[in-house]
Amino acid sequence: MPAPGEHHPAFEEYCDCIFELAEDGVEVIQARIAERLDVSRPAVSEMMRRLVAEGLVSLERGIALTEQGDALAQRVVRRHRLAERFLTDILKLSWAEAHHEAGKWEHVISESVEDAMDTLLGSPTTCPHGNPIPGSGYNEPATVRLADHVAGDGFSIIRIPEELEFAPGTLEFLEEVGLLPGQSGRLIGVSGDGNLLVELDGRTVEVDPFIGERILVTA
Ligand SMILES: [Zn+2]
Repeated sequence: MPAPGEHHPAFEEYCDCIFELAEDGVEVIQARIAERLDVSRPAVSEMMRRLVAEGLVSLERGIALTEQGDALAQRVVRRHRLAERFLTDILKLSWAEAHHEAGKWEHVISESVEDAMDTLLGSPTTCPHGNPIPGSGYNEPATVRLADHVAGDGFSIIRIPEELEFAPGTLEFLEEVGLLPGQSGRLIGVSGDGNLLVELDGRTVEVDPFIGERILVTA
């Protein structure tokens, strides 16, 4: 049994998922939660009942976190993103490995470990993918989706939304071609088969529209 003030990892997972779907601007419905968590629809609806009973979720106007659910989600998301930073910056794991491992760490990091990581890392404001760390006071610059950027103009990558972190192979692709937060590039145009053509460090990279419609760059 979790100690008082602690929650079952499954509750944390669901609150985290609802928080991140909303953060990515994805409609928070049971089908999206089932996809993101890779569970069945009946499992999601059963868990929604339990989350409502725990006071973590409200179903009054669609699926939404209560104040208590939001606080829990922010704590878990903060630990996930700090762990990702630790795993990439200090342990030098790849992005994809760090994302996977952090999914486990987020449930076991205590407050004192969280504080020590934050200090060691110099109080980072984003995860390695550019997603804001709750409680860090991050001020995100104005962004547009890469696909909406003006062709011919330069941009700087700000954020790889969680939705892309969960799409198989995407983090590996982005890391391999160097589409990383902070990296500058230029949108050249669209190829015959609908891929975005992006210039990065003198190379031309083809970016799938699923990625181009989600990655956020400077406006
Ligand atoms: Zn991340």
